[in-house]
Amino acid sequence: MWGYVAPLRDMQFVLDEWLEAGKDWAQIPAFAELGADTVQQILAAAADFAAHTLQPINLPADRSGCRWEAGDVRTPQGFVQAYRQFREAGWPALACDPEYGGQGLPLLLNAALYEMLMAANHAWSMYPGIVHGAYDCLRTHASREIRSRYLPKIVSGEWLCTMCLTEPQAGSDVGLVRTRAEPRADGTYSISGTKIFISGGEHDLTDNILHLVLARLPDAPAGTRGISLFLVPKRLPTAGSPANALRCEGIEKKMGIKGSATCVMNFGGAQGWLIGEPHRGLAAMFVMMNAARLHVGLQGLGHAEMAYQNARRHAAERRQMRSPERPADAGEAHPGGADPIDFHPAMRRTLMTLRALVEGERALGYWSAHLLDLAEHDPDESRRAAAQDLLSLLTPVIKSFFTENGFNLSSAALQVFGGYGYIQDYGIEQSVRDSRIAMIYEGSNEIQGVDFLVRKVIGDGGRKFKLLLQWIADEAAACRAVPALEQFGAELDALTGRWQKVTGEIIAEAGTAPAAAYGIAGDHLRVAGLCLLGACWARTARVSMARSQEPFYRGKLDAARFYFDCLLPEAGWRLDLIGRRHLPLPWVRPTE
Ligand SMILES: Cc1cc2nc3c(=O)[nH]c(=O)nc-3n(C[C@H](O)[C@H](O)[C@H](O)COP(=O)(O)OP(=O)(O)OC[C@H]3O[C@@H](n4cnc5c(N)ncnc54)[C@H](O)[C@@H]3O)c2cc1C
Repeated sequence: MWGYVAPLRDMQFVLDEWLEAGKDWAQIPAFAELGADTVQQILAAAADFAAHTLQPINLPADRSGCRWEAGDVRTPQGFVQAYRQFREAGWPALACDPEYGGQGLPLLLNAALYEMLMAANHAWSMYPGIVHGAYDCLRTHASREIRSRYLPKIVSGEWLCTMCLTEPQAGSDVGLVRTRAEPRADGTYSISGTKIFISGGEHDLTDNILHLVLARLPDAPAGTRGISLFLVPKRLPTAGSPANALRCEGIEKKMGIKGSATCVMNFGGAQGWLIGEPHRGLAAMFVMMNAARLHVGLQGLGHAEMAYQNARRHAAERRQMRSPERPADAGEAHPGGADPIDFHPAMRRTLMTLRALVEGERALGYWSAHLLDLAEHDPDESRRAAAQDLLSLLTPVIKSFFTENGFNLSSAALQVFGGYGYIQDYGIEQSVRDSRIAMIYEGSNEIQGVDFLVRKVIGDGGRKFKLLLQWIADEAAACRAVPALEQFGAELDALTGRWQKVTGEIIAEAGTAPAAAYGIAGDHLRVAGLCLLGACWARTARVSMARSQEPFYRGKLDAARFYFDCLLPEAGWRLDLIGRRHLPLPWVRPTE
């Protein structure tokens, strides 16, 4: 039946052999004492919490959903207890600064923790999932007084946070936000307006909830340059912690993540504190959104992992028909003549697709989390800057490529279950529904495509893009130096060469034909994901060669070959499409 076992062996492989994270940590004073045993214990404890506390309440929460009553929200059964356990174990503090009560551990470990939490229970993980971004935003932009008042409560998990951007008329375009902020005599602000779709806007996990709200000051210019950021607590920091003037007006009935309360929030002159500078709220909010986008990418990875391990188990147990070609590892024929469905080539191919994308994404996702640590802590300033540049390109790729795969792979896994997959009790249909939202929120995947190509690649004339290409080229070159892996290196070089050429053309024509880039931005981002995963698999193959006699590493080499033979070629036809960007647009506005 449906279940979750954290892929600790693969996580350890990525941390120790693929990333060799310990070598970098040894150079960073904040992490120098972190030993392999401690890392193992942390991952094992997180795996236990995910599998034994969160996973069992996932399906019942999907059935019951949250309950709204007169402004209060009750989360599904077991959510409050699970959150209490989470807090008591110190998980919210894992990667936070000891100055505010944190444990000061790497964000890389936080990423591994969240991959497990999201896989086991996406809806529950929505409540604490936003917190690290809010913590970063306040740490970077809030006044000393706000930091000392709120950060220790956030780090201890005593209070949770929200991110309040969306309004009925302002979705992808936050420049359309209308919520108002009027200055008050005491230096604070009075916030009025309605926000919709706010995750965790109200709940029963914590007494206080800290809302980070985008609003306009009276003299604000139109558009995104007139938006400011405010901290608006549910309970005020004065004696007796009176309630602030805000209320949850209702929760949405929705397709998935039903245990996560998606709230309509009304701010009726609520007291708020300005974070950062007036009219510069979007810059402050971006600190939070970038962290949140990597987290949302991990939701896609978590769903795909969960789908993969359950589909694999089902395919090994379920028998139907005889396979046309009995695989070498088939064993004894079944007396009834029917083989497990994972003997059938079509099912093997689906399972290998799941495996190759899941394990490739784990390497890429953890590398990005490691870059977050290096961008903050590397003793060498130029390496800190390079890590930041790479991250700015990797963030939209991870958000969009991982979430698109998360949904598509959940659907592919449902196919492995056949008709049972469509039935509620088997769990996979919930994954298909739950995973879908990640392609929409935190900046839809279309917005990520524009962010990557137009804002970031064209925006700096391809400077950061060269860094990314160099990383891929280095992996390809290292593979070419290993006789059995030359082909991987050559294929990667050929594709990235085409990608570099066409991107150079797009940058050159940005002044004269800017619209063309918008039409193919999604394909361009997909090529980025595929080439980056190609480089990840190239490194995995190289690392695995020396121990190719052992089943774990043999399996890695098989999956690498599958990725290069069956999945990377998608980049080729996406590049063909990108080459057609100047043809008269086939995607005219549809008319009757
Ligand atoms: C379950 C759930 C939880 C959420 N949680 C939060 C939260 O905690 N806080 C919060 O503030 N918001 C939250 N949201 C809102 C979410 O971030 C928005 O739904 C999202 O940003 C998209 O906005 P929209 O729904 O208005 O769609 P629209 O902006 O109307 O977009 C509709 C379609 O048009 C496309 N599109 C729009 N502009 C462009 C463009 N320039 N180029 C190409 N395509 C474009 C979009 O990609 C999308 O496919 C949540 C939503 C849901 C459903």
